[in-house]
Amino acid sequence: LGKSINQAIGGLVSGQQDVDEQALDGMLNEVSKALLKHDVGLRHVAALKKNIKSSVNLENTPPSQRKNVIQKAVFDQLVALVSPTGEQTESAVFKPRKHKCGVIMLVGLQGAGKTTTCTKLAIYYQRRGFKTGLVCADTFRAGAFDQLKQNATKAKIPFYGSYVEPDPVVVASEGVNKFKKEGFEVIIVDTSGRHRQETELFDEMVQISAAVKPSQTLMVLDASIGQAAESQAKAFKEASDFGAIILTKMDGHAKGGGAISAVAATKTPVAFIGTGEHIYDLESFTPQQFVSRLLGIGDLQGFMERMQSLKLDQKDTIKNIQEGVFTLRDLRAQLQNIMKMGPLSSIASMIPGLSQFADQMGGEEPTNRLKVMIFAMDSMTNKELDSDGQILLREPSRMIRIAKGSGTSISEVQEVMTYHGTMANIVKQVGGRNGMLNQMQNAK
Ligand code: GDP
Ligand code: MG
Repeated sequence: LGKSINQAIGGLVSGQQDVDEQALDGMLNEVSKALLKHDVGLRHVAALKKNIKSSVNLENTPPSQRKNVIQKAVFDQLVALVSPTGEQTESAVFKPRKHKCGVIMLVGLQGAGKTTTCTKLAIYYQRRGFKTGLVCADTFRAGAFDQLKQNATKAKIPFYGSYVEPDPVVVASEGVNKFKKEGFEVIIVDTSGRHRQETELFDEMVQISAAVKPSQTLMVLDASIGQAAESQAKAFKEASDFGAIILTKMDGHAKGGGAISAVAATKTPVAFIGTGEHIYDLESFTPQQFVSRLLGIGDLQGFMERMQSLKLDQKDTIKNIQEGVFTLRDLRAQLQNIMKMGPLSSIASMIPGLSQFADQMGGEEPTNRLKVMIFAMDSMTNKELDSDGQILLREPSRMIRIAKGSGTSISEVQEVMTYHGTMANIVKQVGGRNGMLNQMQNAK
């Protein structure tokens, strides 16, 4: 998903003409298509599109800033979609108090990951110094108690359950009461996710809830189930009005879009994400980080840096050239400017150092090659862009990283370096104190 959204935005970034309404619409359609393909509900996609459009005012934005503004709007609106209450994760996570008893109840369909998650959650609270216990209120599924027992034992968390009592409401109250008496501060109740009838399951949930009076009800939702996530979450919301969601199986190749819809549709924040089958695979959730991950950006800071780097300033390049310096960033600015001039074949011979590449390309439209080079440079860090390229030649692992990050090949990254080397040499000769430019200026 991230890749396709990035491609859509990337199309804008490396586009040849200025960003206008039409270009914006085109990009929004691409983004929408990507979201739909990844199971985000149509209604949410339409709203997202509308919000982006209304938050971007192209007319009042200088052309050089437009791409940044649009990128930021896409990012912000995706964040808004996964943090529907505008709250941060912090407020979605139940906060127990010392010497008080807090009860957390987990609901969700069978297979969603409740039993696995309740131990993860118990570890989370135990590590923060709270006396934490687990109650197995799943009497429907054979082996449910054993599964919980096994995990709890591994994590050294006290647990309660029964092999003989068939009524989950009874087991739940007994367990919670026992732990309460013993001064436990967090009691986590695992429930069943299946029944002969859905209404029976929901009835049971309501009864357990009435018996244990949870401080927080959490819905455990499998992030990999696609579009079904939204209707499932809505049905549970009506029956149990959970206060937050835990998204499980975020480690898999889940498209995740269904989960986004579920969050948006129930207007319920995500408290945690499950990222594996092991009892420690639980991570806190921050919308910005989630969207950064979704877009394959890694982190917000990296994203900001990338946006910053788009504010290319030709003045810097000119100043650099006068001083005889030519960085990779200068090269990218130059290539981007060349791209704006349209089909290259006709003008390649006019650009210093480029004609030899045009020959090597043997008829291929050089613009495509330049695009690839710009893509590769987009995956460089600021440090790399501002360098003379030596750092990359000294540490080839950087080139491998750049190739991977930009979807180019290592030989294509090497091509960037070769071209940059040629240009840097020319600039060194032309610029600098004793260079041609200075001599010409002094002669004036
Ligand atoms: P329950 O029926 O809701 O109690 O679900 P379980 O806790 O029994 O989990 C169902 C399956 O999903 C098990 O095989 C778990 O190991 C697996 N599972 C749960 N959470 C995660 C997760 O975050 N990542 C992965 N990869 N698997 C998970
Ligand atoms: Mg279970």
